[in-house]
Amino acid sequence: MSNEMNATVTRRDEINHGLLVLQVTPDDELPPFVAGQYTVLGLPGSASRSGYADPEEPPADPDKIIKRAYSIASSSLTGEYLEFYVALVRTGALTPRLFAAQVGDRIWLGKRVVGMFTLKDVPADNHFVATGTGLAPYLSMLRSAYEFDSSGTTIVCHAARVSWDLGYRSDLEGLAARYPNFHYLPIIDESDRDPKWQGEVGYVNRFFSDGTISSLLGHDPTPSDTSVFLCGNPLMVDGVMEMLGEEGFTKHTRRQPGSLFVEEYWK
Ligand SMILES: Cc1cc2nc3c(=O)[nH]c(=O)nc-3n(C[C@H](O)[C@H](O)[C@H](O)COP(=O)(O)OP(=O)(O)OC[C@H]3O[C@@H](n4cnc5c(N)ncnc54)[C@H](O)[C@@H]3O)c2cc1C
Repeated sequence: MSNEMNATVTRRDEINHGLLVLQVTPDDELPPFVAGQYTVLGLPGSASRSGYADPEEPPADPDKIIKRAYSIASSSLTGEYLEFYVALVRTGALTPRLFAAQVGDRIWLGKRVVGMFTLKDVPADNHFVATGTGLAPYLSMLRSAYEFDSSGTTIVCHAARVSWDLGYRSDLEGLAARYPNFHYLPIIDESDRDPKWQGEVGYVNRFFSDGTISSLLGHDPTPSDTSVFLCGNPLMVDGVMEMLGEEGFTKHTRRQPGSLFVEEYWK
């Protein structure tokens, strides 16, 4: 596989010093993909690091390309570019370099887009509950000809530490205002750092255990009528999986279909 830089950063929006929306345009045609899938971004060890990251010890090999997986946030119908939503890991190898990348900089983009975290295996009449610290796959799904007016209810629960980490909040609130079947439930867990926050505090599990999800669906979610997607922080994923496991929800795999769809961003 060639390690030549094969794409260009065409937009960057730093939501804050720890969250970045990055738009990347490949030199060649965009690979086809299904909303929810991921590809790989890479930058050389010689690329500079964001000033908000920790210093790197030992320094990375300047000639080696550091590559990591990223879910695509843009619509699968957009033919020109891919959008990514990246959280800074201050001690990390790649994210400090992605945060330092500027419009016009060259970047390595994987040729293939892969992954099973898609709506492909979700029955058409199911409700769709998406929970995440990782929001990118849901953005792509909602932006890719999503049927907001279908008979099923869609709920996106977005967990963050503080309210200013709730990226795309106004887009999701806008969708919720427009479509009666779509609900957006943000929640933060560091309210002491965010005393002005008026919304929910805690972990996404809360929305299941306190009856919020049941009341929006009109009944308790069951594995036969509700598909639950979990994406991002493995602690969040494990917590919700354990709780819903007690209600009969099982993880969806290629061999064993289930109603819990899982994408963990790290172990
Ligand atoms: C399928 C898939 C899709 C992914 N999509 C996204 C995405 O859309 N956006 C995104 O920001 N990341 C995403 N990731 C995570 C991404 O691949 C990197 O692991 C992450 O960006 C850190 O890279 P790094 O080189 O800076 O850190 P590394 O040097 O690789 O250090 C990684 C270590 O930092 C911790 N870590 C990794 N990610 C985080 C995090 N977000 N918050 C706190 N600690 C973390 C873990 O302990 C991990 O072992 C995805 C991962 C997978 C497997």
